[in-house]
Amino acid sequence: MKEIIASIITIGDELLIGQTIDTNSAFIAQQLNSIGIRVAKRVAVGDQETAIREALDNESTYADVILLTGGLGPTADDITKPLLCDYFGGKLRRDPATLKHIEWLFNEVYKRPGALLPRNQKQADIPDNCTILHNPRGTAPGMLFQKEYRIYISMPGVPQEMKEIMTDSVIPFLQQNLKTPFIFHRTLLTAGIGESMLAEQLVNFEATLQPELKLAYLPQYGMVKLRITATGQDQLVLKQAIDSKFEELKKLVATHLVTDKDEKLEAVIGRLLSEKKATLSTAESCTGGSIASMLTSLPGSSNYFKGSIVAYANEAKEKLLMVDHSTISTYGAVSEQTAQAMATGALKQLNTTYGIAVSGIMGPDGGTTLKPVGTVWIAVANKSTTKVQCLKLGFDRQRNTHQTAISALNMLRQFMLTESQD
Ligand code: AMP
Ligand code: MG
Repeated sequence: MKEIIASIITIGDELLIGQTIDTNSAFIAQQLNSIGIRVAKRVAVGDQETAIREALDNESTYADVILLTGGLGPTADDITKPLLCDYFGGKLRRDPATLKHIEWLFNEVYKRPGALLPRNQKQADIPDNCTILHNPRGTAPGMLFQKEYRIYISMPGVPQEMKEIMTDSVIPFLQQNLKTPFIFHRTLLTAGIGESMLAEQLVNFEATLQPELKLAYLPQYGMVKLRITATGQDQLVLKQAIDSKFEELKKLVATHLVTDKDEKLEAVIGRLLSEKKATLSTAESCTGGSIASMLTSLPGSSNYFKGSIVAYANEAKEKLLMVDHSTISTYGAVSEQTAQAMATGALKQLNTTYGIAVSGIMGPDGGTTLKPVGTVWIAVANKSTTKVQCLKLGFDRQRNTHQTAISALNMLRQFMLTESQD
């Protein structure tokens, strides 16, 4: 079976001046990958006729599917639609169903009743040689052209609109019209071991992987995700092969394994807390609430997360977390003793099973010889025990903060696991 190759062309001046980050390509690539289509290239061009035509010509030399986003708005800078119409030799015609949808959007969704502006009506002018892909959220529909066995799909640049067209129309169309292979992924997450060390441990494992299986390392803030992907024609054989290798991989990384699912650390924490019917509070100095934000990004977190006390100033640590003035004046705000007192303070103030506390120097300023930038104390406590850990981070402020939050959550995870074995 021939491999199906795709190319993504993103259109918009804002992408080239760095005003908008191209998140559309990432989403499209993930979606295509999930149905076994390989993205060979991503190209970004400005809202400029020759650049768009050149990109179309170039990508057409090898790709089977070409996806475009951007340039479909009602303003003069958006030129993709007439250009595509001309490129594929069609004529613009007003589409009554699209016009009706635009009227409905203005009346019912945008709440701007009244006559449509001509430029809004023009959004319903569609090339007569394309298939219209309904855009439930916006005025510019997606357009699908076919030429010499190639498929071209143009979508709006607005990420939410593009995403819905992708999942509702594009992916089902490609699955129905192209013979794509089966593809399975199994993912696990490790913590406390670097990518290179992991790779050393997995040399033999990788050497015995069947050709239809691939192992990917995805490092992220002190953790490494490992993903095995299986691609092939025989669904059953493939499933057995990936499951068996995944079990082997799990055993090899057992001491560092956080989860054998494709989920975030905060979801693992949520599950552990729910299983224990336990609750959590955080006392955050240097992370300024990031840990709480990570925890509450998950729906249902109110079942186990009670709250965070963001105590940035020493005064706040004393008033809100009942840390003794003498503890801070003797040992400093960034110390084992203060972190410990913050954790027990949070646990008491918010009446939870566990408390996490972090206090550190994130940089770029504020370091001393004894406590350089990147020094962080983390404490995790339950009602009877407190554990502490000191990190020496060497990144920029943003990364130091994120790394601290991840390390604190991972420390709580380990604390809960070892505690249950006592
Ligand atoms: P357009 O379809 O060109 O009118 O795009 C509308 C808006 O979508 C732009 O103002 C951008 O904010 C956003 N946008 C366009 N292209 C992308 C992209 N590749 N990734 C993320 N956002 C985008
Ligand atoms: Mg644009």
